[in-house]
Amino acid sequence: MLADLHVHTTASDGAESPAEVVSRAASIGLAALAIADHDTVEGIMPAVEEGRLKKVEVIPAIELGTEYKGQEIHMLGYLIDIDDTILQEELAFFRNNRRDRVGRIIKRLNRLGFPVTRERVMEIAGSGSVGRPHIARAMVETGRVATVEEAFDRFISEGKPGFEPRVKCSPAQGVGIIRRAGGVPVLAHPGLADADQLIEELIPEGLAGIEVYHPGHTPKLVNHYLEVCERFGLVATGGSDYHGPENRKNNFLGACTVQYRVVELIKELGKKERGHTC
Ligand SMILES: [Zn+2]
Ligand SMILES: [Zn+2]
Repeated sequence: MLADLHVHTTASDGAESPAEVVSRAASIGLAALAIADHDTVEGIMPAVEEGRLKKVEVIPAIELGTEYKGQEIHMLGYLIDIDDTILQEELAFFRNNRRDRVGRIIKRLNRLGFPVTRERVMEIAGSGSVGRPHIARAMVETGRVATVEEAFDRFISEGKPGFEPRVKCSPAQGVGIIRRAGGVPVLAHPGLADADQLIEELIPEGLAGIEVYHPGHTPKLVNHYLEVCERFGLVATGGSDYHGPENRKNNFLGACTVQYRVVELIKELGKKERGHTC
C-alpha cells in the first residue's frame, strides 16, 4: 500500500491530464496519489473521478510558491477544502502573479532573440496555471534549445538572463492559507533550498510535516530530515514531484513513495485542523 504524495497535472505545469496521471498510478499499483498542482485545485475533481474508476485514492492537495530570504520555498497543503471561497480568491491572486511574471520573462527572451510569443505559451499551458515549464517548451519549439532542461539551465533559472522573480507570500502566510482552508501544511523538498532554520519558525504557525522523500534529496538529506521530523514531532511525507513522463530527471511517477499509514496520519491531522477552525 504505497502513496505518491506529490504529483502535478496539466492543471498546472504537468504534461499529463489528471485522468492520465491517475491511470498511470493505477497501472503501477499505487494505492493513493496526492494531486498537488502549483497554486490551483482545478485538477483535483477530475482526478478524484478517475480515481473512483481506477481504485486509486486521490488526496486533494496544493503546492504554494512562497519566498523566504530571497529563496523560493514550496509549501504543500494536504486535504484542503477545494470549495473554500477564501482559498479560491487567494489562488486567483497567485495565478495572476504567475501570468504577469510570464509576460516579463517572454519580453526578456524576445530581447535575447527567442521568437517566443505569449499566445503560444498560453496555448501550451492550456487551461492550467501558466509557469516557466510552459515557456521552456515554447523555447524548445524555436529550435534554439534542445530540451526543457537546457532552456532552464541556460536562460530561465534564477540568475540566468531570462529570469524574472515572482511576487510571493512568505512561507508563514502559505501555512496560514492552507490551515484556513482546513488543510495540513507540509514543507516541500526542503533539501532543494538552504532554509532549515525556517522549519523551527514555521512550527508555531502550524507546520505539520516535511517532505522527506523527494527525488532531489540524497540519502544523507533523507536521514537529516527524518531526524528533524522526529525532533519536532512532524510527519515525514514523500512524493515524486512528477511532471510528466519525459521532462525531468528521476521524477518518474512513484519515484518516491510513502507507506499508506502516512496518509492516515495526515487525515488525523486534517481532522484536528478542521476541529480548530470550526
Ligand atoms: Zn516544488
Ligand atoms: Zn511540485
